[in-house]
Amino acid sequence: MASVTRIMLGVNESSLKGYPHPSISSKGAFEWTINKIVRNNVTAFNLLFVHVQVPDEDGYDDMDSIYATAEDFKNMKERERIRGIHLLEYFIKRCNEIGVACQGWIRHGDPKEVICHEVKRQRPDFLIVGSRGLGPFQKVFVGTVSEFCWKHAECPVLSIKRTADETPQDPVDD
Ligand code: AMP
Repeated sequence: MASVTRIMLGVNESSLKGYPHPSISSKGAFEWTINKIVRNNVTAFNLLFVHVQVPDEDGYDDMDSIYATAEDFKNMKERERIRGIHLLEYFIKRCNEIGVACQGWIRHGDPKEVICHEVKRQRPDFLIVGSRGLGPFQKVFVGTVSEFCWKHAECPVLSIKRTADETPQDPVDD
């Protein structure tokens, strides 16, 4: 029997809805993967979820936080950790329901660099990322994870854009 196809997916949290929902683009990329690639062929695939947490990046919910003691930072880190776990749990649960094999990782650092590093380490058959479809100026000022991965990851890369009706008023939001 042929070995399974290993698909790596970069997943992140929504900047809009807050705790603990996945971003529109990464959820869309996952749904697309299930509907268009995996289909009923669940035993032929293994999905590898990578979520990268950015150190010291204040989450939306932390905007009004005051840090006065070491304990406050410990609490923040703990909340971050739990958010990452909830995010992976969302995708892992969906895979379990569908019956497709999966694994999930949380890593730390710059998402685009870390995803490419994970590709090197785990050698998936291909990588799937979502894409906010940012314009040229937003790409420069906000940055784009999907385009960097598409250029630099050492495997084929598929980037799944959000549909027009999924795209929020400010396309940077996701
Ligand atoms: P872009 O709109 O080009 O920045 O790409 C967004 C996509 O990059 C998301 O749908 C994810 O697939 C991926 N991505 C962004 N941030 C992260 C992260 N922190 N961890 C894992 N994947 C991420």
